Order: sequence, then C-alpha cells, then structure tokens
Amino acid sequence: MSVVLIKGARILGGDPVDLVLRDGVIAELGPGLRADGATVVDADGLVALPGLVDLHTHLREPGREDAETVYTGSRAAALGGYTAVCAMANTSPVADTAGVVEQVYRLGQEAGLVDVQPIGAVTIGLAGERLAELGAMADSAARVRVFSDDGHCVSDPRLMRRALEYVKAFDGVIAQHAEEPRLTEGAQMHEGEVSARLGLTGWPAVAEESIIARDVLLAEHVGARLHVCHVSTAGSVEIIRVAKARGVRVTAEVTPHHLLLTHTRAESYDPVYKVNPPLRTDADVTALREGLRDGTIDIVATDHAPHAAEDKECEWAYARPGMLGLETALPIVLDVLGDQWDLIAERMSRAPARIAGLDNHGHDLKVGAPANLTLIDPTARWTVEATGLASLSHNTPYAGMTVPGRIVATFLRGVPTVLDGKVQK
Ligand SMILES: [Zn+2]
Repeated sequence: MSVVLIKGARILGGDPVDLVLRDGVIAELGPGLRADGATVVDADGLVALPGLVDLHTHLREPGREDAETVYTGSRAAALGGYTAVCAMANTSPVADTAGVVEQVYRLGQEAGLVDVQPIGAVTIGLAGERLAELGAMADSAARVRVFSDDGHCVSDPRLMRRALEYVKAFDGVIAQHAEEPRLTEGAQMHEGEVSARLGLTGWPAVAEESIIARDVLLAEHVGARLHVCHVSTAGSVEIIRVAKARGVRVTAEVTPHHLLLTHTRAESYDPVYKVNPPLRTDADVTALREGLRDGTIDIVATDHAPHAAEDKECEWAYARPGMLGLETALPIVLDVLGDQWDLIAERMSRAPARIAGLDNHGHDLKVGAPANLTLIDPTARWTVEATGLASLSHNTPYAGMTVPGRIVATFLRGVPTVLDGKVQK
C-alpha cells in the first residue's frame, strides 16, 4: 500500500499542516511530519477539502458510450476533485434491475478513480407506470439507496406515494425530477419574457413548483425521505423552506449552472445552453444562492450530462438538454460563494454523502478518517476549453470563461487519482 505525505495543506483554508495517508486513512496530521518511502506532495498554498461527492451524474454507460463511459466520467470526476459520484439510472438499458446497477457498480470499481454509486430507477423503464425492483436493487452488491427516474418526473401521485413508502423500510430516498409533464409539453426554455420574444414554447416555473409542493406533502404524509433534484426557481426554494420548517424530511440540490447562468443565454440559440430544467431569471438565481447559503438547499450537484456532438450541435429545437459539470463545479461554486471553504465542504461533500448514505465519504479531515480528499489552488485562474476537458463530450457552457480555483490533486482511500492536475489512469 502506498504512503503519501502531503506537506503544508490548509484544511478548509486553515493554517498549513502535514498529512500522512496510509492504509486508506489519514494516519497522521500535524506540523513537520516525515514518512519514509512516501510519495511527497508539496501542498504549499493549497486548500484541502474532503473529497467531493456528486449526487447527480449521468455517466451514459451502458448504452451511450459514445457520449461518456463510466471510465471517462470517472476521470472527469477525479479531475473535478470528486471521490464519489452517484450515477443516474437513465441509461440504456435503464438501471431498473439488480443486474444493471451491479454492472455500473462493477465498471466503477474497475475504473478505480472514484466510487461510483448507482442510482436505481423508481419505475420500470422510467415509464412511470409500475415500480421497479427497488428492494432487489437495495439488496444487490450495489447497495442502492437513492432512486430516481431523473430525466422524467414520477408524475403519478399514487406511484410516488408507493415509492416513498417502499424505500422508507431501508431509509432510502426518492430523488425527484420535479416537472409536471402536462405543463411542459413541447417546452424549449424557461417561460418568460425571453421565450415570448424568441417565440419558443416555455417551461413555466409552476411546472416544477407544483410537483415539489405535492411531493413534500406526500413525504410528510408517509414520513419518508424526499430529495428534490436540480431546484431552479425562487418559488421552489420558498416551498422547500416552508416544508423544512414543518419538519418534512426533504433535501434539495442546485446545479452550478442554475447558480450562474440565466435564460438570456438562449438568445444566442446556442444549444449548449439548453438544459432541463431550463436556465431561469436573475431573481431565481438570487433566490437559489440565498437558499444555498442558508441551508434550504442542502447541496450542489452537477447534473453532469454529456451529449455526443450530433445530439448537441444542431438546431436548438432538436438538441438534447444537458451540460457537462464535473470538472467545472468547484470553480463555479467558488466563484459564486467565495472562499467559504467550510460551507463548500458541507454543500459538496458532507451533505451529499449523508443524503446518499455513502459512509466512507464526506468525513472531516482528521486522523483515522478515510483518506478521501482533494487539494485546490484557490489563487489559480484558468480558462475553460471544451476540448480540454476529460469528458468524452464537449458540451460545457463555460467554454472561454476564466474561472477561479484549480484542482491540483485528488486522493481516493489514500491513493492519488490526480496529481499536478493530471489524472493518474
Ligand atoms: Zn433531471
């Protein structure tokens, strides 16, 4: 087993300290440490965070290995400072059986760069008609605890209620893509002044808010855990705030792009800005940032959604929704929140690990903790290049943008997955 000596890292931006990583854990922590035969990493000026955890990643394997694979997505994740990602179920075949979730889990182990935790589908084939084998997926080697039809909404309230009841038995959670489908038929972008001007069919905020309002009431009624994917409107933040005050077991995520970009991007007709839920208004962005700061929104999740060129470099109306996110999430959050390292660690590591039930992730960097961590140069600024990212796809909305914060190194159970900004596999 390799030994790593990290010299002078600032844990959560604190005073410089040395760390010895041995046997998968942080074995020693303090000033002036030595370790014979260790790989020495000079972390002068670098900030150490617990390895990031993404609750919402599309890895596209099985089925669309031309857009991303578990391996290439794992590389992108490690380069983004992640040590665990939860892989969404909308693959082909859909991850709605023990067999498929075990396949994804195994591919993640083979890639060996991040822990890939499969998410199971709520309904068979994401069709929204019959519950998938939730228990079999929970009992499988992949130990699924998060279930989602993401990409589709579980819009049938009776089915949603039954799913919540089912996962309560093993403290699972239903992660809902909140979109009332009857209100978004043919939708191309946020419904508002820009969609009206461009003549594109709108995706109204109420389509998201009405499902969240319904689901928090169902979760309260059942006493089960609900997680709301990619919250995008001010009204949604308000509903979740009220639900939490009532004691509902609800958690919520926001994506980096919804924290930064707005619907005016659609004026370019560049499909790189087409995403579901769509980019919203300045007022929504302000409310999302406020919700993230005050804890109404628990986590940042990437909704990393790679798409092959033919699905993205076409007319707006035909383009698939979705954006890359893994390699740019931390820089965008740093840009939005500033260097509030403890808050960033909570929203991007501890809380997502708790929600997903990933016991080996999201730990504070202390002696005895799993050696899952990332080192960031907070002063570095870099310009995002679509073809410079590790993802197989190039649909980043940040191309050409200069962002703060560069991930220098990432460690998974004490083994470097990224060193000097380069992935180790
Ligand atoms: Zn979604």
